[in-house]
Amino acid sequence: MVEPRFAKGLMMSEFDYDLFVIGGGSGGVRAARVAAATGAKVGLAEEFRMGGTCVIRGCVPKKLMVFSSEYSHAFADARAYGWDVPDGSFDWPKLRAPLHAELERLEGIYRRLLGNSDVTIHDARATVSGAHEVSLSDGATVSAKHILVAVGGRPSVPEFEGSDLAITSNDIFLLDEMPESILVVGGGYIASEFACILNGLGVKTTQFYRGEQILRGFDNEARTLVSEQMIEKGIDLRLGSNVASMKKVDGGVEVTGVDGKVEVFGAVMYATGRRPNTDGLGLEAVGVELGRGGEVVVDDYSQTKVPSIYAVGDVTDRVQLTPVAIREGMAFVETVFKGNPTKVDHELIPSAIFTQPEMGTVGLSEEAAREQEAIEVYATTFKPMQSSFAGRPDKVLMKLVVSQATRVVLGCHIVGPHAGEMIQLAGIAVKMGATKEQFDQTCAVHPTMSEELVTMRDPVRTS
Ligand code: NDP
Repeated sequence: MVEPRFAKGLMMSEFDYDLFVIGGGSGGVRAARVAAATGAKVGLAEEFRMGGTCVIRGCVPKKLMVFSSEYSHAFADARAYGWDVPDGSFDWPKLRAPLHAELERLEGIYRRLLGNSDVTIHDARATVSGAHEVSLSDGATVSAKHILVAVGGRPSVPEFEGSDLAITSNDIFLLDEMPESILVVGGGYIASEFACILNGLGVKTTQFYRGEQILRGFDNEARTLVSEQMIEKGIDLRLGSNVASMKKVDGGVEVTGVDGKVEVFGAVMYATGRRPNTDGLGLEAVGVELGRGGEVVVDDYSQTKVPSIYAVGDVTDRVQLTPVAIREGMAFVETVFKGNPTKVDHELIPSAIFTQPEMGTVGLSEEAAREQEAIEVYATTFKPMQSSFAGRPDKVLMKLVVSQATRVVLGCHIVGPHAGEMIQLAGIAVKMGATKEQFDQTCAVHPTMSEELVTMRDPVRTS
């Protein structure tokens, strides 16, 4: 039995705040608002812009750029469907201005939500100077019964000769003009998504990934299809490739690969993982344990080694996803301010990778499931009606990984248009522990791509 961290109805204490949140991103803002709704006195410090990575330099501007880049084939498709439209050309400044206006609008909403919740905003950098004390860059020092660290992370570029010439996903949204060509380094979510965005926007795109196949850890069949389709759409994807050194030259950056090949690219974008923003935050000095990558070490309730200090979101390097940070923030408030100890549930988190084609995934990959138990695999690959009619060679994958013993669907993997939307819904069934037979009892919606999820009769593989 876990002891509640906070006695409900605590007398107004000797502290300036009941809760002080460091970081105005998804996790911090949600925790601040929900805690304030319990009657707690809450302060929040943000050194940059309210909204954090997701709103300012991540999910939101990225998705807007995904939408924009998908128009590259929309004109040709429209002609196939009877419309008389010329091929357009892309003008980055025309998108950049409204894109940044939209980010400002969202930032304003975040600010207003905090204000309306009676959270006191400090536009300052905060460092932890004691178990109950925070120092602000404007010279103030505040005390708090609880401190929540929600400072997120930042892109991490390995150090090598010329590595300072690399840009990161943070910089892409701020470019004055799009380069004619770009090298994207990395094979994770960010590298693969940006390779597709930039390719769609007409930038000659090369992607280096050091391993055998991009999107390591995801279902092999699904990531292979994504990578094949990325190549089909024009990305020069080079597996088993990496950069040895870079130098500035006229017209861009000269890159020497580990294979000795020398090439010039207009820009080089590194997306080789993200590091927690704990440098200089004062955490170790007050006894908070940091992991090898600088992440804040927390227990199942997001509590650090210092009982009054908690951490949520990317800074803990558990699962680096906005909805997870929000749920961690809510679980923290439930535990600390509502006397209802709540562990964060990190099982069966659906997620989408906004590559082109998109990938949606929940649960175990075929490979991971096979390691665990005997499985059946139901999968089908086909050309979707919409793009096939327009003469495009796109392919879709619908796949279920099923336990032989319990018939429970252990994993669902979708590659194709709107896979992110589909996996959100399939994720409910998988999270509920639905069996293959329960999928099959659901009537198909016709004609759709996702009807295949309830109509696959025979396994393609068993083991
Ligand atoms: P990832 O950890 O997903 O991928 C990092 C990539 O960089 C891997 O391919 C890795 O290779 C490679 N890499 C690491 N170090 C080096 C190196 N020194 N030289 C060359 N390659 C290297 O990180 P991302 O930056 O792509 O994304 C960070 C997090 O952001 C993700 O984990 C995800 O949770 C989140 N995110 C989620 C999105 C979504 O939900 N759609 C979108 C964007 C981000 P290897 O595989 O060999 O280790």
